[in-house]
Amino acid sequence: MTVQETLAELVAIDSVSSRSNVEIANYLAHRSVGLGFQVKRFPYTDDKGVEKVNLIALAGADFAQGPPEVELALVGHTDTVPYDPNWNEALTLTERDGKLFSRGACDTKAFIAAALSAIEVVDLQKLTKPLALVFTADEEIGLIGAKRLAEVRAFHTRYAIVGEPTSLRPMRAGKGYCLAEITVKGREAHSAYPALGSSAVVGAARLITRIENIGNRLRSDEHTAFDPPFTTLNVGLIRGGTAKNVIAGECKFTLEWRPIPAQGPEKLLELLSFAIEEEKKSDSGLVFEVDSARTDEGYETSANSRLVNLLEQLTGYKTGTVAFGTEAAQMTELGAEAVVLGPGDIRVAHRTGEFVPVNQLEQCVEILKDSIRALCF
Ligand SMILES: [Zn+2]
Repeated sequence: MTVQETLAELVAIDSVSSRSNVEIANYLAHRSVGLGFQVKRFPYTDDKGVEKVNLIALAGADFAQGPPEVELALVGHTDTVPYDPNWNEALTLTERDGKLFSRGACDTKAFIAAALSAIEVVDLQKLTKPLALVFTADEEIGLIGAKRLAEVRAFHTRYAIVGEPTSLRPMRAGKGYCLAEITVKGREAHSAYPALGSSAVVGAARLITRIENIGNRLRSDEHTAFDPPFTTLNVGLIRGGTAKNVIAGECKFTLEWRPIPAQGPEKLLELLSFAIEEEKKSDSGLVFEVDSARTDEGYETSANSRLVNLLEQLTGYKTGTVAFGTEAAQMTELGAEAVVLGPGDIRVAHRTGEFVPVNQLEQCVEILKDSIRALCF
C-alpha cells in the first residue's frame, strides 16, 4: 500500500476529538499487527463519557515483563480538530497541485501514514533494539492521552520522534502552555459611597499591573533558541462588574503563559501567589482565587543528542524550536530525548483547506525508515 493510500484510509475515519477514536485505533492495531507488532490498548473514558484509547505497537520487546524499555518511539495523535461540515474534502483525501487536502492531512495523520510506510520496508526480524509506535487520543484538547501514558509509565524510551507538522524540520525544544482563571471577589456598594465597598475591578487591575511586572522579571531568564527568547504572558479575557454605578463585586480574567523549559509552570504561579499576598495588604476586603486549568511543561533535548544530530543529517535542516504544545513533554517524562518532526506546515493545520505536500509526505517515509535503521539495528 502506498503512503498516499494509507493516508486516504486514515483521513476517511472521522476522528475529531469529541468522538471516540476506537475506530481509528482498531485500524492502526490491525495494520500494526499485520506488520509484525504486538499491540496493547490503554483505554479510558473521557470526561463526556466517550470511549478513548491510547494504542502502543511494539516490536523487539513485549509487555509481559511490565513496561517495556524502548529504543525509539514514533508518536502520532489519532484525533483531529473539528471541520466545517461544508468542506467536502474533509474526509476524502484530494490531490491538487502536489498537495493532499483533508482534515488531519498534515496534523497529524501524514506522520502516522509515513511511519506505517517506513515500517513496511524495514525487516522487523532484524531489529536489535525495540521499536514502538505510539498512537494517542485527545492531543488536540490538552494532550490528555499522552499525559495518561506518562502517568501510568506505560513504557520507557530512549528516543522519541513526535509527529507534528514542522515542514520536516526537527524541533528539539518547545515552550510549555499554561492557563489560569483568576477571580477577584470584592464587596458591592453604591458607587456614591466608596467606603462601603471593595472594588473587584480595581483589585483585578492592580493585580494585572503586578502580573505585567512578573512578566518583565521572567524575561531576564533568556533562552535564545526561542522566538521570543523568554516566557510570554497574556491576559486575554476580562469580565467584571454589574453596572456603572455599582462598585464591582466580582471580576474574572484569564492568564495564559508559555514558559521556556527551564522555568516550568510553577515559577509564575509562585510569583503570582506572592503578588496576591501583597495585593491583599492594600485592600483586605478582596479575595483572590486562582484556578489553574493547564500547567503543561515545555521540553528540551540537548543540541548534542544523537537523535538531534541524526535528524539534522537526514533532513538537511538545523534544529529549531516550536511555540505550540506537543506530546514531546510527556515523552520526555517517559525518559526520551524527544524531537518533534513531521510533514506539512502548522500554519495550514486547524483550518479548512488543511493539506500536506506530497513530496514532504514521501520524504518523511525515508527519514523515518533511516531513523529506525540507524537507531534500532
Ligand atoms: Zn497535532
